[in-house]
Amino acid sequence: MIKKIVTIPDKILRMKSRRIGFIDDSIKNLAQDMIDTTLDWDHDSEFGAALAAIQVGEPLKLTVVRNSFDSGKDKTFTTLINPEVVKSSTEMVTDIEGCLSVPGIYGRVKRHLKVKVKALDQDGNEVRLTLEGFPARVLQHEIDHMKGIIFLDYVKDSKNLLNIDEDGKLSPITNNDKVVLP
Ligand SMILES: [Zn+2]
Repeated sequence: MIKKIVTIPDKILRMKSRRIGFIDDSIKNLAQDMIDTTLDWDHDSEFGAALAAIQVGEPLKLTVVRNSFDSGKDKTFTTLINPEVVKSSTEMVTDIEGCLSVPGIYGRVKRHLKVKVKALDQDGNEVRLTLEGFPARVLQHEIDHMKGIIFLDYVKDSKNLLNIDEDGKLSPITNNDKVVLP
């Protein structure tokens, strides 16, 4: 079932998400709904890398992450429950990221280059991921959602904000009045 994506400045995005204690059918159904919602959102110029449950209004530590970030062609996802960063590199890297809850705006954000993440899969098995570069960025972004943090919180200078046009081309935001910060 396709859910409505919560967008800024909705305060729901500032809620802290709860740990999931028991993975029942409602959790599995929610994960599937989140995958369906992301695929429904995909369009020619953009595709969703991941979605956190809070982005469909559910304050639960649950995210679905695309298995390939190369293009929107791969429509398979990995479900991660109660993910947490257990180790992160001191080395940081700045790259461009966006968010389904922040339509049309991208930003340059500094993140840890590498992270180790511990989580449960949808069958309750513990998974440990060692991630570097963009996948590490995606997980840091999703785990931030569970703390009520949005990537815009890290963008202190509006020159690090970008607009996307319908062809998927990014350009600096020239009219800052248009930007609605949460
Ligand atoms: Zn996001």
